[in-house]
This record gives sequence, structure tokens and C-alpha cells, in this order.
Amino acid sequence: MALKQEGVAPRVGSGPSGAGSLSWGLRSALAVILALLPAPGLGQASPGRPTRPPLIVVSFDGFRWDYLDRGLTPSLSRLAAGGVRAQALVPSFPTKTFPNHYTLVTGLFPAHHGIVDNTIRDPATGALFHGSDTLAVRDPRWWGGEPLWVTAERQGGRAAAMFWPGSEAPIGGVLPTYWRRYDARLPDSLRVDQVLAWLDLPAAQRPSVLLVYLSDADDVGHRDGPDAPRMADAIRQLDAMIGRLVDGLRIRGLEGAADVVIVSDHGMAAIDTSRVVVLDDYLDPKAIILLTAGPFLAFDPRPGLEDSAARAVARIPHAHVYRRAETPERWRYRDNPRIAAFVGVADAGWQVVERLPLEIRPQLFTGGSHGYDPADSAMHGILIATGPAFRHGVVLGAVGNVHVYDLLCRAAGLTPARNDGSPDSVRGFFGGR
Ligand code: AMP
Ligand code: ZN
Ligand code: ZN
Repeated sequence: MALKQEGVAPRVGSGPSGAGSLSWGLRSALAVILALLPAPGLGQASPGRPTRPPLIVVSFDGFRWDYLDRGLTPSLSRLAAGGVRAQALVPSFPTKTFPNHYTLVTGLFPAHHGIVDNTIRDPATGALFHGSDTLAVRDPRWWGGEPLWVTAERQGGRAAAMFWPGSEAPIGGVLPTYWRRYDARLPDSLRVDQVLAWLDLPAAQRPSVLLVYLSDADDVGHRDGPDAPRMADAIRQLDAMIGRLVDGLRIRGLEGAADVVIVSDHGMAAIDTSRVVVLDDYLDPKAIILLTAGPFLAFDPRPGLEDSAARAVARIPHAHVYRRAETPERWRYRDNPRIAAFVGVADAGWQVVERLPLEIRPQLFTGGSHGYDPADSAMHGILIATGPAFRHGVVLGAVGNVHVYDLLCRAAGLTPARNDGSPDSVRGFFGGR
């Protein structure tokens, strides 16, 4: 099937140079000017204009729940004070980026939507999925369920995704009207400006559901750890992006008139090479096909070696590794053939890794990581919901991230597709409606 072309909205800053270069600086300056100049007529009633307020979903990859309490986030705090904040957003298992971003927009546990890890081997076809493989992420066969943007498009709206796992694939034959090829180097400011530019489109083309993905908290968290001074800078910068978004909405007459929901996919735990278990000491690397190692471990034994693998994993210290059928029930991580035959987690702060990468690049195993049990509070993320759909000045308890899709659908006036969440679990976010 032919893919729709990338978004047709005014493009800002798609180019090959790195962040911080003069060229980006100029582009950013231009983008600020463009972003600060709303299209004529915006904020006024016009024929064909979507009647509901737009819903903007912002994801901060790897933004741990307690980063909000470090006194570094004035814009987020202001939004939270005027809306609803959950104490924590509890990720689904495994606490990785692709499974959880796709759970957030489908309401399905990873076993039910099929993105069971960032790296997947489909036993039916032998095909491999990796988040960095453009062909794989655009292949709709990997992506089950119905993501928010498909729900919106099917119900007569337009959706726009400024990066989001799944948004490049025609899922159920449907792409968001506006989307962009993933480019990790595109500065956050330009991502926010693209969202604002989409809101400047003429009414008939304007999206009503918009998503934007920012990865800095994850990038810095991995490299330096959740408590490093550089983490504070990253948190401040992400907060500034919310300030930029809110300023852009204000100029367009949309501050307080748009619903803005800020989420993260998981948290981040400090790691170091003093808490590493070498997998090779327990399992012959040639006896398995290793898919993932670290806080989260997933592998398939070579044929005939299942029982010896089961005996071996029982001896791995500082970790709990199970056959797929015996994983803890609360992980909901059994009923999909794409789940590896053996899966498990290391204890908090520990990692189970192969000897070779550990010896070649030990720096990869310091700083921060995620993939631990979702019950570990270091893996918990954020959920802030603000705008006309939501109550004001409310703090709620922890929410499981399978409920976010129902929350987003209700805010956008969409009928949710069948999913694992329940609208009742997020009723407290909404007023008397
Ligand atoms: P991880 O920390 O391994 O769970 O994954 C985080 C990484 O996924 C980030 O560094 C991003 O660069 C990458 N990533 C996030 N979204 C996408 C996407 N839509 N396409 C490709 N890569 C992505
Ligand atoms: Zn992530
Ligand atoms: Zn990460």
C-alpha cells in the first residue's frame, strides 16, 4: 500500500544539521517568529472549524514522576495547578519506550497490541522489529489495536503526530493526516512550533488531535542518571517547551481553550557497573537468541535447550526470570507469541548483561536505565491533564497507563475502541459531565 506523504503543513526546520548549530539557530529564530504569528482568523469562528477544543498530547520520554517535585518546572506546575495531576502514571510491562507509548494511545497492554518490546522477533515470520528500523516501524503488521489518531480520523476528525511510535504506519489502513518521519535531532522547539503551525491551518484542514514527542529526559537520564546535574538542565528545558506551547496557545486565543495532556512512558533508575550480573556466567550465549538485556531480559533458547535454560535462569542472582507462561499475572505479559520464551527483570538498580558489550563499552552500563518491574516507583511517569475538559486544581492517586486512551478519547469527544482500560478509572479527571 502506498504511504501518504509526510505532513503537508508548513514545515519548520527539517534538515540534517545538528542541534545548536548556527543553521538551527537561524531556523529556530524564524520558527519563533512564525510560531508567534498566528494565522489570520484563528480563535474566531469560521466555517468548517472543528467545534471542539483541540486536544494536544505531549510525551516526555523517561520523565520520572518525581521530577515534577524538584522545583525546576514552573510551567508544568502552573498547568498542573490549573488542571489535574496524577501522583504517578504507572507504566505497563515492559517499562520500555515503544510498548508504553503504544499502550498510552491504544489502552491495550503490550501483549494485546503486539509491540511487546523495542526489539521483537515474530516467530510466525521470523521478522525482526526494532524501533530504529524505519521499514519496521512503518509496517502496519506490527501494530495491533486502534491508536488515538486512527480513532480520531475514523470519527471524522483530523489527527497530527509530531513523532510518536506507530504514527508512521498505516494502522488499519489509516495514517494521521499530518505526521513526520522520526528525526531524533530535530530540536524540541521546532517540534512544538510544528504543533502550533498545525493549529494555524484553515479550519477545514486543522487537526483536532495533536501529539508531540520529546526525548531529552530519557536521553540525559540514560547518559548521566536521574540525579545528575545535567538532568536538572534537561528538566528545565522540557518545562520551557511547555512554556513555549502555552505562549503559542495564548497568542492564538487558545490558552485554557485547548486540552493539553502531558504524559511520560516510564521513569528512570540509577545504574552503575558495580551492580551487574554477567549473563554468560549462567547461560551459554550460543544456546540462546538474546533479544534484550539490562534491567529487562528477554531471550529464546535454541531448540531443545528450553529445560536447561530454565535451570540456568533459576541461578541468576539479583533477577527474576520466568518462562513466558509463568510471568507474574500483574504484568499481563503472557498471551502473545511475540513475547520471548523467557523474560524477566533485574532487581532495582541491577542489570543482567552480556560480557562482550560490558567489556567493550562499559560506559553504556552506567548512568540510568529503565525496563524494571512497573511496581518499582522509579519506573513511574507523569500524567497532567488541563483544559476545558478537566477539573481544576486536583491531585489524584497513581493511574495505570492503560487508562490514558479512555481519558484522551473522552477529552476529545471520541468513542474509544475496545481496550484494556476503563473509563471509570479516569472519571476523577473530569467534572460533572
Ligand atoms: P528506549 O530508551 O530504548 O526505550 O527508547 C528511547 C529511544 O527511542 C529514544 O532515544 C528515541 O530516539 C527512540 N524513539 C522514540 N520514538 C521513536 C520513533 N517514533 N521512531 C524511532 N525511534 C524512536
Ligand atoms: Zn522511553
Ligand atoms: Zn530509554
